[in-house]
Amino acid sequence: MKAYLLGGRPLVFPFFSGALRYDCAGCEAPCCKGAALGIGSSRELVTIQQAQPKAPLFAVPSFHQSQRLALQTPAEACWFLDKKRRCRLERVLGHLAKPAGCRLFPFVRFKNAGETVVVLPDFLCPLLVGAPTAVGPASHDGLALEIHQAQVGRSGHKELPVPRDLPWGDAMPLERRVVEEAERHLFEESYVPYAELQYLLALASLGIDGKEGAMRKVEESLRRFIGASEVPSREAVREVVALTGVLRMQASSLPRREVPAVLVALSVMVGVAEHLRGAVRTPRTTVSIWEAHLPLLYVLAHLGSRPVVKSGVTLREAVGELPTVRAPLLKVLDEVERNGRRGVAQPLEDILRVQHEAFAAPLSADAVAMLHGLGRVLLRACTFVPL
Ligand code: SF4
Repeated sequence: MKAYLLGGRPLVFPFFSGALRYDCAGCEAPCCKGAALGIGSSRELVTIQQAQPKAPLFAVPSFHQSQRLALQTPAEACWFLDKKRRCRLERVLGHLAKPAGCRLFPFVRFKNAGETVVVLPDFLCPLLVGAPTAVGPASHDGLALEIHQAQVGRSGHKELPVPRDLPWGDAMPLERRVVEEAERHLFEESYVPYAELQYLLALASLGIDGKEGAMRKVEESLRRFIGASEVPSREAVREVVALTGVLRMQASSLPRREVPAVLVALSVMVGVAEHLRGAVRTPRTTVSIWEAHLPLLYVLAHLGSRPVVKSGVTLREAVGELPTVRAPLLKVLDEVERNGRRGVAQPLEDILRVQHEAFAAPLSADAVAMLHGLGRVLLRACTFVPL
């Protein structure tokens, strides 16, 4: 992977070059409805003011959590969006006349990860997964040029949470390697081999020897637990592989050794989602499941592991933050606490099976809601020992 700099700091795209593309011509322009126009230079502001003199009255102090000045456009449509859903500024005055935020969109989420600046996309854009390429607007070179022309600052970006098991100095080379390896796994039938590699790479970064086959076991146990036999299509696997680096950054606080199993759980859930009657799968299916169901995926990823309550934390405290707590969940949490004191500890799946009725496959909506709660508690209060 080529190295890029932003004001002397490493600039990282957590997806391979060409992986994420967009097609404005075939899009309903959600980015131009209620969008904030992120202003990169006074020249851009002058252009906007000439076309729309009162626009400065709608200034807002930040753009996508950055310190960039922005103008808030109407929810219905930007002043410059024409009937054919094209930008008038671009059509009349050229690409560079558009505000910087629009030129960068959807790659507008700049985050600090230690010394590195990470570029994440905004999934308001219906991004498509493309083939690797070194040239063109979707390439790393193309994005880096746009970022340079938009004068994105080297600092002032929000911090990404540090992974719980590695400092950024060690985690970032791992993340880059994971993205580099994605291309080799794009056309596989299953996500598991790529997860296996991520797992072994994470263990190597931690100085631990790993055994092959751990991710296969994760997949088997979670399929058994939720009663899911649906196989994700090759396109779905390809999308999860291409998005992996971004998803890993979105969940940057997760321990790097644990995140591959959580991604295996995601790939199974994406397979289930695309087989639902009437479902339409796009890359956003993957992202939305990741964002909405991460605590559930976390539980499913750890069914075969032994939960251990962190010292200085009580589960009762952690559970106090949940909106609702049902009796079976409380029993599971009591059992998790007792489990840590046992000579021979049980895996999470066995602890859940004690509440046989509540967590029998196929899972009820109540059971899934409780697993979400359990996941939130485990994320906050437990670590896991693989069995
Ligand atoms: S300035 Fe152009 S690209 Fe930006 S939101 Fe308005 S219409 Fe869309």
